[in-house]
Amino acid sequence: MCYHATFASMQEDSTTYSDPEKQDRYDRAYLRLAKEWAKLSHCKRKQVGAVIVKDSTIIADGYNGTPTGFENECEDYHGETKWYVLHAEANAILKVARSSNKVNGATLYLTNSPCKDCSKLVLQAGIKRLVYIDKYKDTSGIDFLEKAGLAIKQINDLNEK
Ligand SMILES: [Zn+2]
Repeated sequence: MCYHATFASMQEDSTTYSDPEKQDRYDRAYLRLAKEWAKLSHCKRKQVGAVIVKDSTIIADGYNGTPTGFENECEDYHGETKWYVLHAEANAILKVARSSNKVNGATLYLTNSPCKDCSKLVLQAGIKRLVYIDKYKDTSGIDFLEKAGLAIKQINDLNEK
């Protein structure tokens, strides 16, 4: 048993580091990962990636796409996104639901700020912190989460550091 480690983890809550520079380095690294995950999406209109981190550990990842067992194409023959396509953050939250982990208290990393519907899931899942790269054109989701008291941070200059 390492008492020092126990004490250190009590000092820093489960989602953040007390050193802001260290926090920034990790936030950027997780966002880069979310960006890689976005590339895995089969959707053509928009590719979004998500990473959920709790206790300094990645507990889930996700990208927008159709449910397991369905064809990978996200768009119908009109080029419209099919209604059953799940957004990246919904896929990541549901991945945690299928695991033995719990999402409450976690940090969500996203390439794009959440839409209205996903912001409800994010809040109700108990996610406490949101870090994202690009702001989605409809800011209702992000405004809602801000009002609900989530810690929100945008980093859109990923390659500068
Ligand atoms: Zn969404």
